[in-house]
Amino acid sequence: LERTFSIIKPDATKRNLTGSVNAVIEKAGLRIVAQKRIQMTRQQAETFYGVHKDRPFFGELVDFMISAPVVVQVLEGENAIAKYREVMGATNPANAAEGTIRKLFANSVGENSVHGSDAPETAAVEIAQFFAGNEIV
Ligand code: ATP
Ligand code: MG
Repeated sequence: LERTFSIIKPDATKRNLTGSVNAVIEKAGLRIVAQKRIQMTRQQAETFYGVHKDRPFFGELVDFMISAPVVVQVLEGENAIAKYREVMGATNPANAAEGTIRKLFANSVGENSVHGSDAPETAAVEIAQFFAGNEIV
């Protein structure tokens, strides 16, 4: 079984949608094997999205990620990384398929409700940024 890292972003937590997002995750056959609600620091958000630091939207993205609590998660399942990307839908909710989390809940490309790792290497790094091994059960 594969693991991926997920974030339920501030736009979703502010609208009290944590359980609704989790229902879609579980219905897709992914298991939530670690989860906590945290207020990200600016430093944590900048590190997390460091790959985007030269993009024009970086400042806005970091401000958004620290604008309210987020729920960080580890999801486990067969092909969890690709499966969760499919369940999330396209980055821009306007392009997201019916039934995906972003189609159901997201309002814009910036405030798009969830994050999911894009490869095994990034999943491992992202999980380790937020969880100790013994917190994943
Ligand atoms: P994530 O990494 O959050 O799972 P993603 O892999 O679908 O999303 P990326 O290209 O990695 O998309 O972009 C990271 C995040 O940066 C997006 O989820 C979105 O919140 C924000 N973002 C991306 N493109 C834009 C944009 N053009 N304008 C504003 N924000 C953007
Ligand atoms: Mg990404």
